[in-house]
Amino acid sequence: MDPYEYIVNISRDFITLINRDYVYEIVNDSYCREMGLPREQVLNRPVAAVWGEEKFEASIRKHLDDCFQGQEIHYIDQFKFGPFVKYMHVSFYPFRKDGRITHALVFSHDITQLGEIESRLSNYEYRDPVTGLFNRRSLNIILEKEIEKAKRSRSEKLRALLFIALENMAKVNQVHGHEIGDLLLENTGLRIRRALRGSDFVFRFEGNQLTAILTNISRSTDAGKVAQKIHNAVAVPYDFKGTEILIACSIGIAVYPGDGEERNLLIQRAASALEEARKSGSSFLLFNAELHHEAQERLRLESDLAKAFDEKQLQLHFQPVVDLEGRIRGAEGLIRWQHPRRGNVPPLDFLPLAEETGLIQAIGRWTLFTACQHLAGWDLPEGFYLSVNLSSRDFADAHLPELLDTAMSKAGLRDPRRLKLELTETRCMQDPERTIARIAELREKGIETQIDDFGSGYSSLGYLKKLPVQTFKIDRVFVEALAESQEERDYLGRIIDTIRSRRKQVVVEGVGTAEQYAFLKEMRCDLLQGFYFSRPVPAADFEALLKRGQPLP
Ligand code: C2E
Ligand code: CA
Ligand code: CA
Repeated sequence: MDPYEYIVNISRDFITLINRDYVYEIVNDSYCREMGLPREQVLNRPVAAVWGEEKFEASIRKHLDDCFQGQEIHYIDQFKFGPFVKYMHVSFYPFRKDGRITHALVFSHDITQLGEIESRLSNYEYRDPVTGLFNRRSLNIILEKEIEKAKRSRSEKLRALLFIALENMAKVNQVHGHEIGDLLLENTGLRIRRALRGSDFVFRFEGNQLTAILTNISRSTDAGKVAQKIHNAVAVPYDFKGTEILIACSIGIAVYPGDGEERNLLIQRAASALEEARKSGSSFLLFNAELHHEAQERLRLESDLAKAFDEKQLQLHFQPVVDLEGRIRGAEGLIRWQHPRRGNVPPLDFLPLAEETGLIQAIGRWTLFTACQHLAGWDLPEGFYLSVNLSSRDFADAHLPELLDTAMSKAGLRDPRRLKLELTETRCMQDPERTIARIAELREKGIETQIDDFGSGYSSLGYLKKLPVQTFKIDRVFVEALAESQEERDYLGRIIDTIRSRRKQVVVEGVGTAEQYAFLKEMRCDLLQGFYFSRPVPAADFEALLKRGQPLP
């Protein structure tokens, strides 16, 4: 066999040669295989007969004509091969004989798997040759697409556009030459790429300016966090033949849709934020000043929280849980953060942050150890328990049973029934099977779990039966509604009755007034908790309450 023929036939790409009468003169094996046609039905036959008159007239003929005029053509289109639709990158090359164009040589490369956008952008026209990043043209296309996508989708996810200026590139080029400069630019692009998620995009906008699109952020302030991450990644010094080279960057951020719903406006705003960032010497700046402030606060809070453990700024406070006569039967441990500058930071301000950053696990551990320590040190009445709140992550943690053992033995707490865990209803529902197994496992050890904020989620009372728990804490909102109407009171009454009819215990929390107390006494719940009896107090104050032994309030 002629080696050229052999080469053409083993190619996975489709190769055909078409003459000026639009008839196939060469077709390779791949092409016939993909078309599902024997060679005889393609070779020496008109393109229109193979693809159908319509497709031929609509798209193929024009390309062939242009090609016969001497143009090289590259495009991407959808083609139907039997039942499959494929995206093909198609190239037409004029084929000359004796200086005259006699044929069109057509190569088609299957890019279906690359996915639509990606495939179009794999083309060199959309890439920057120095960094391999997408170029400015792609920025326009992708930003446009992302805006369209965001408009179509019902989710609340935001998009952020980051303008990133690399600060000492000019000097690097001057001192080390452009080749090194380009290398560093490429590397910095890579570092930024690695700091982002797979679904984000990085572009070289121009010169020493890069841009990034973050496609999937929940809060505008998250963009600040990512920007800081980029900033840190870029700032790591390069070691070039023993000399350190430092590149810094400033970042300007515009967020869709808050800062603009249109491509050019977003670009303009991100660029203007960048300019401000450079002027003020900040690592990043959000276009919206208020959001910027918020983003910075979050970042600061986050790093402060990491230090809070060592600096003993965390404390556990205790809120008594009383019976219907006001006698203390237990307590709930509630975390407090005494920040050196801000004062008392409420748990709901820093716990979500801790969840995001993973610090929540350290907090969970701290809470358990601290609770056990206090419990072991107090002189407690019979049956007294202390409950602590656990995040769902802590509760599901494979090491939780071990952790509890360690915390109890380290504190010298011998009776596991003194300690109870609180898990919110909504968190139980995230993975009911696993939660049930975990609750049962802890129960074996003698540690009960209580369902917190009950009624706030959507779990049915049928689900309640399946949970191997003894106690339900009713969500505060039901208590707040008590004074509103008889209907509300009946509603809460029914919830309490249902739980009690299953021989489970009901704790009502958030009791703030004598009136609420009176209603609840009638409803025959088991235990009460709330400001009316006592606010959460520091350990020493709680101990004093215990010692006094008087009913509350
Ligand atoms: P929660 O578990 O529902 O805790 C009860 C919250 O209600 C506490 O707020 C408590 O101070 C408040 N409270 C008690 N009585 C009343 C009342 O009569 N009226 C009103 N309006 N509020 C009352 P806090 O201490 O701000 O805690 C908020 C949430 O933070 C807790 O809700 C809990 O989910 C979480 N949390 C607190 N400490 C910890 C902890 O150590 N670990 C974890 N993972 N979460 C904690
Ligand atoms: Ca609780
Ligand atoms: Ca609660």
